[in-house]
Amino acid sequence: MTVTADPSAYDLDALRARVLPHDDGSVDDSIPRLAEADPGLCAVALALQDGTVRGSARSDTLFAMQSSVKPFLFALALLDTDGDALHRVGIEPTGEAFDAIKLESGTGRPPNPMVNAGALLTASLVDGGDVEGRSDRILRGLSAFAGRPLEIDERTAGEEREHGERNHALAHLMRAEGTLHVTADDAVEVYGRACAVLLDVQALAVMGATLAFGGVNPLTGERVVPGSVARDVVSVMATCGVYDGSGTWMRRVGVPAKSSVSGALVLSAPRMLGAAIVSPPLDRQGTSVRGRIASEMLSDDLGLHVFATR
Ligand code: GLU
Repeated sequence: MTVTADPSAYDLDALRARVLPHDDGSVDDSIPRLAEADPGLCAVALALQDGTVRGSARSDTLFAMQSSVKPFLFALALLDTDGDALHRVGIEPTGEAFDAIKLESGTGRPPNPMVNAGALLTASLVDGGDVEGRSDRILRGLSAFAGRPLEIDERTAGEEREHGERNHALAHLMRAEGTLHVTADDAVEVYGRACAVLLDVQALAVMGATLAFGGVNPLTGERVVPGSVARDVVSVMATCGVYDGSGTWMRRVGVPAKSSVSGALVLSAPRMLGAAIVSPPLDRQGTSVRGRIASEMLSDDLGLHVFATR
């Protein structure tokens, strides 16, 4: 029988040392800011139910959330629309890349909230009136998930705006289908600013833990979203969070997660813990190579696989 380690005593620096030699994958270059990322960066953090947050070396290094923001945009959209967001976006996996120019056939809705089309829509459903109001509301909501005030990297936000052609294409397609109620510029701007939110792995682990513990932030004790919202979000992370790699991820890691082009990964192990890893080199599906390996090791060592019966 495998002995499961105690998360409150688990050696995160030893885990980091085990994954550091894996130097394959390539750093995303969709915007200049991402292309400058340090390929040697690797940091891991865990957030536990008692509010303890534990980090490896470099766990205070800042990075942009990019797509790791998507579960939280979905959560805020569900909260602010009283669940109506569930009718506005699909929840089926696509088996395609994150920015595929494709909507759900028959409905014109985005396929799910974890791909770009879905996140453009969920970000537009958050309260706030105009671009500025919605962006502020998102930043406040994300800060509540993290348990500390977060900030936007204006350079990343500017580059997302300048290089966001595919996101513009998706937004215009949704306008044509009648499924996006704000302008394409508005949708791309608000989503791009959300992708540009800066944090470290400790804050991201707390965000994952807030979802894992039914919407209550274990650090602050604040109920950020209702338990039903957290459950819906974690369910969709499980099926769609790692894009076209979601099936393999679920079999091998077995923990709902969201990947991103900055090399960040957020994991929500229901009732157990939240975890986050950052390491910029990505595999072909846009998942951090070291992040995936570290997640497999964490899952095995801490017994996190949701379908494991031992
Ligand atoms: N900002 C990126 C985009 O919209 C996010 C994609 C990702 O992190 O997977 O293209």
